[in-house]
Amino acid sequence: MIDAELVIDLEAIRRNVARVTGIVRPARYAAVVKSNAYGHGLPEVARALACDVAAFCVYRVDEALAIRAAGVASPILILGPVEARDLDLVQAAGAAIALWSDGSFARDVARTARRQASRFPVHLKIDTGVTRLGIDCAGAANLLAGALANADLDLRGAFTHLAAAEELESDFTLGQLERFEAALAPLGTALARRGVVRHAAASAAALLYPRLRLDLVRPGIATYGIWPSDETRAALAPGLELEAALRWTTRLVVVREVESGRSVGYGCTFATSRPSRIGVLPVGYAEGLPRALSNRGEVLVAGRRAPVVGRICMNMTFIDVTGIPEAKPGAAVTLIGSDGGERIDANDLAAAAGTIGYEIVARLPTEIPRRYLTAASTAMASLSSKVPS
Ligand SMILES: *Cc1c(COP(=O)(O)O)cnc(C)c1O
Repeated sequence: MIDAELVIDLEAIRRNVARVTGIVRPARYAAVVKSNAYGHGLPEVARALACDVAAFCVYRVDEALAIRAAGVASPILILGPVEARDLDLVQAAGAAIALWSDGSFARDVARTARRQASRFPVHLKIDTGVTRLGIDCAGAANLLAGALANADLDLRGAFTHLAAAEELESDFTLGQLERFEAALAPLGTALARRGVVRHAAASAAALLYPRLRLDLVRPGIATYGIWPSDETRAALAPGLELEAALRWTTRLVVVREVESGRSVGYGCTFATSRPSRIGVLPVGYAEGLPRALSNRGEVLVAGRRAPVVGRICMNMTFIDVTGIPEAKPGAAVTLIGSDGGERIDANDLAAAAGTIGYEIVARLPTEIPRRYLTAASTAMASLSSKVPS
């Protein structure tokens, strides 16, 4: 068992969704829950949001099935590529897939629909500038017309994805919108008549660009209370509160009293410059703490910042707790979250490691025990804290 804990506040996630919904209305909210709901736990997050959002977006088939296994019947869109052999499962789960060609895969989709005697729900993906998945704009009108006419397909949506909304590259972003609208224009009335939902915006664009909200937005990172970038935070934080929903803690295993000049860790990259207390944490890069934080990161112990010293190991990390007398074996250590007046959020940790908050949370191993705070558990805790023992 990994000796660490993730505490996830499902009510904070619901409040983030409510705040963003208030901003993007009347556009509807499709919560992106790929990568184990950005590390927060897919079944729990899907259940918590089932009544709050219009749909869920996942990347893989197994993620769609996990949502159904959690008892959630909401619409699902699988954003990533699907194998033909999985189409029956997908159709049975009632999930929609993204389609970006009318080639052999599209024929497999149609065959599945006929075999199951029900139209296969699809969203057509149009590439307007990421150059990843999606049909080029030039071919989009044909593909859309074909899908509208195809009795085996239930065309539910047409969508694109933005390359640089997080960086506030508004010329490029608005150019993508123009290309998307131009690609749909020849079929505008037919799409509207069939109720085909248009969508383009992930978190950053949904918050920053009213014109990009279209019929539906696809926020991932903001759902979890993490800003997409420093730029979006600077632009939006004055008017919008996002609550980080995840707290990551562990405990000190060992605290060593060592003399000045003592080498710590692999590669001898750190030596004490004074008599020191060096703590060892049971979390290393295999548990999701980036090795790039070696000699750079910080954690919180007893409401104070303690630097990471030496190289982060596969399963362990050293911190300097000199001058923090509460730092004893078993003492709580916060990797993400607040302690006393100090706080480290996923983006702080990411910045020190040279990456983005997305990567930090998406790579939190599923094996870390997760504990969920719900409205009921929070009410219970505050009740028991009021009852004299
Ligand atoms: C991951 C993803 C999103 C969500 O992005 P955030 O920046 O986390 O809001 C939306 N759409 C697509 C296609 C994605 O792959």
